[in-house]
Amino acid sequence: MSTHDTALPAGLAPLLDILPPQAWSREGDEIAPLSADWRGRYRGHSPILFKPSTLDEVKAIVAACHHHKIAITPQGGNTGLVGGSTPQGEVLLSLKRMNQIQAVDPINDSLTCEAGAILETIQNHAAKAHRLFPLSLGSQGSAMIGGLISTNAGGVHVLRYGMMRDLVLGLQAVLPDGSVIDDLSGLRKNNTGYDLKQLLIGAEGTLGVITAATLKLFARPASRAVALLGVATPHNAVDLLARMKELTGGGVCAFELMPWRALELVTQHVPGTRLPFESSHPWCVLMEVTSGEAERAEILMQAGLEDGFERGLIEDGVIAQSQAQMAQFWGLRESIPEGEKAHGKAAKHDISVPVSRMADFLTQVTPKVEAMVPGAQIVAFGHVGDGNAHYNLTRQAPGAEEDFIEACKDATAFIYDQVDHYGGSISAEHGIGILKRQELADRYPERVSVMKAIKATLDPHGIMNPRILL
Ligand SMILES: Cc1cc2nc3c(=O)[nH]c(=O)nc-3n(C[C@H](O)[C@H](O)[C@H](O)COP(=O)(O)OP(=O)(O)OC[C@H]3O[C@@H](n4cnc5c(N)ncnc54)[C@H](O)[C@@H]3O)c2cc1C
Repeated sequence: MSTHDTALPAGLAPLLDILPPQAWSREGDEIAPLSADWRGRYRGHSPILFKPSTLDEVKAIVAACHHHKIAITPQGGNTGLVGGSTPQGEVLLSLKRMNQIQAVDPINDSLTCEAGAILETIQNHAAKAHRLFPLSLGSQGSAMIGGLISTNAGGVHVLRYGMMRDLVLGLQAVLPDGSVIDDLSGLRKNNTGYDLKQLLIGAEGTLGVITAATLKLFARPASRAVALLGVATPHNAVDLLARMKELTGGGVCAFELMPWRALELVTQHVPGTRLPFESSHPWCVLMEVTSGEAERAEILMQAGLEDGFERGLIEDGVIAQSQAQMAQFWGLRESIPEGEKAHGKAAKHDISVPVSRMADFLTQVTPKVEAMVPGAQIVAFGHVGDGNAHYNLTRQAPGAEEDFIEACKDATAFIYDQVDHYGGSISAEHGIGILKRQELADRYPERVSVMKAIKATLDPHGIMNPRILL
């Protein structure tokens, strides 16, 4: 399949006369890299790349596409993990040139920016104003706020601050007919009917193009403590989390669970990584505690760990002694996907269950799944403080990853059945995209039919990301 269709969709030529030349491209070399996803699982093609720099340009593009019934794939940083931003013949609408930070209001605790602003840039602008924008994830150097909002991204601080859905005060968006909803006022209280922004958050580009957002900022913590702990079981980890939440008065802002096997893959395959323990432990927890008071986080962490040792919940533990060591501990966690990739193939499942049922899920479901795929092992790691695990079935296997994923099809269906049984979700934070579209339709037909009714109202010609989500 070519990465560049030569034929321009009928009706778009007059638009190219109106737009400035920097606002579009038909160069294959520019379109090709944006037509494959981050993992290299999806490859597509597009006849034209639009790269507007103003709201008016986005309006003109969307209105013309609506008029001529031409499908659009919006794109931010192209770091999504479910294939939602890969065009398959649609026009590609990149927000990368709309990247301005428009306002930081430390009294209102809010920041307004265009959709193409990169997460790391937003974090830095908030920090300059002595505020915190708490969303934090592995792709923060590339992911853009429009994409993060469209996928309702999560990351490592959801436990304390919530997901993207909780961090947006207002949105500006171009709807599929080219009209605009514009609410960047930054109000915390606004009880005037349906909350339209919440429809667009997590809509994966199917209901319109987000062009700007006003985000919630928070006070910066005055102290921070990070510990790496060895624990015997997931049950101990979850009990420790509950205890730490009580002891710190809600100060736990990250709680990541990792099997020893995952950390071994990191130290084997990722140069410069090492574990601070002398002996092995079945599971490890990476915990971060913060406080608004200087030095308080370290005190709370120390007291919490003493309590955890006394209760037999912790086998071993190290509190980071410097910023560098904090970064080193977080580096171990963030390097798991790299270690896993170097080791072999993985069939990945981004799932969630209630936190109180996570330990049972991990211990009861895992042996059954492993028995279904000989030689494969579950490496389940992630944001257990939010009830979210990246529940990956891994094996060293010849051939393409797609073949291994296909070989795990029955195991995947079983995992999702178990997720349903435990009251969980088949997509915790990555979204549906093209990857889980069929799964969503098969498992939750009632929900999907309500979503389709909303989509038909806002996008009667079905031009916005037509193959995605629904
Ligand atoms: C290394 C790595 C680590 C990650 N870690 C996490 C994690 O911890 N937690 C987590 O939740 N996710 C994680 N992700 C995935 C995460 O979903 C994406 O990083 C991010 O949310 C997508 O932002 P983006 O700008 O790259 O959007 P893209 O990938 O470009 O697009 C994502 C979706 O949003 C749509 N879209 C993009 N921009 C707009 C817009 N302006 N208006 C309307 N629709 C739009 C696209 O059509 C697509 O459907 C990770 C990804 C990587 C590569």
